[in-house]
Amino acid sequence: MQTVERMAPLQDEMIALRHHFHAHPELGLEEYNTSKLVASLLEGWGYKVSTGIGQTGVVGSLSNGSGRKSVGLRADFDALPIFEETGLAYTSKTPGLMHACGHDGHTAMLLAAAKYLSESRQFDGTVHLIFQPAEENYGGAKLMIDDGLFNRFPCDAVFGMHNMPDIEAGVFGFKEGSLFANAEGFEVTLTGVGGHASTPEVTHDPIVAGASIVMALQTLVSRNLDPMEAGVVTVGVFQAGRASNAIPQSAKLTVDARAFTTEVADLLKRRIPEVIRLQAESFGVQATLTPMTGYPVLVNDVAMTQFARKVAVDMVGKTRVIDLKRPYTGAEDFSYMLQQRPGSYLVLGAQHKTSQPLHHPGYDFNDQVLLTGAAYWADLARDFLLSA
Ligand SMILES: [Zn+2]
Ligand SMILES: [Zn+2]
Repeated sequence: MQTVERMAPLQDEMIALRHHFHAHPELGLEEYNTSKLVASLLEGWGYKVSTGIGQTGVVGSLSNGSGRKSVGLRADFDALPIFEETGLAYTSKTPGLMHACGHDGHTAMLLAAAKYLSESRQFDGTVHLIFQPAEENYGGAKLMIDDGLFNRFPCDAVFGMHNMPDIEAGVFGFKEGSLFANAEGFEVTLTGVGGHASTPEVTHDPIVAGASIVMALQTLVSRNLDPMEAGVVTVGVFQAGRASNAIPQSAKLTVDARAFTTEVADLLKRRIPEVIRLQAESFGVQATLTPMTGYPVLVNDVAMTQFARKVAVDMVGKTRVIDLKRPYTGAEDFSYMLQQRPGSYLVLGAQHKTSQPLHHPGYDFNDQVLLTGAAYWADLARDFLLSA
């Protein structure tokens, strides 16, 4: 019998749990109730539970047999500041907060796997189930790592999964190498010398300097990048001035940069401040840069991705497994975990009739894939711990 069939009796309970999470969303680093519920369920199933990792993160650990290997499986559990418009019976009870990325489903899937693994003991070694806060905003993955995640819970490898509403339900997607973009940002303040619009010679105009910076930044992708590589540099904010007859004292810019390899990300991270500072200097204007929270490129380990792919093929067959052709332009903080441990991030198709994109006010996780995802976790843990 396949794991997914053995897990079928858990389905109703796990869907009810998913709906509970959906109705009670909590923002990144404020997931106190979610975290409490996850911890108490894990404890009830015999896991050794550690809480408060990276503020609200939870790790449930369970060992079985004499195997010495360990594996980390990660789900995120934070919601988004979005007004829900699904009209569902289990719609968010907190207006302005919503599980619009399916993290309610990710958490329910990993909990279903947790319950099954504990009841069936179909594994030999140690599983560390990582329930992570603040994927959407504060880089909860990094906060958990900084809090000693992999020292306290040594994992030989770590895996994560995201539902994708634009891929057929139950189809697994894999990609070796980069899967999510790096996102980096800077807030820039340009400080010049303001004055009357009629006497520019006694001023240092931050608007002219800023305009020149905006144009110079456009040359990073066109002139500094290998033409076969990809990158994006966007100035999303340019604020300055209040009066048409005055040169202002300062201007504010924000720069958003994206890349799909660590090399390009590093190049942009180095060149953006360089271009801004030197341009500003040439206008006698001072530039102050503050980096904004950004996530590194998510790079999947080749061998671990091949392994994770094989687990899916064994489970659902070749026709239900796809190779993703290109990386997603979004960012995902599981990248930090993959910087620490070999592993892979995969996607699970979750399309349904009324599918809306992730982060859309009408989005809802597809309950029909809950068991598929949970059974995959159980098989992955079993097979990884058995592997040489
Ligand atoms: Zn999201
Ligand atoms: Zn997400």
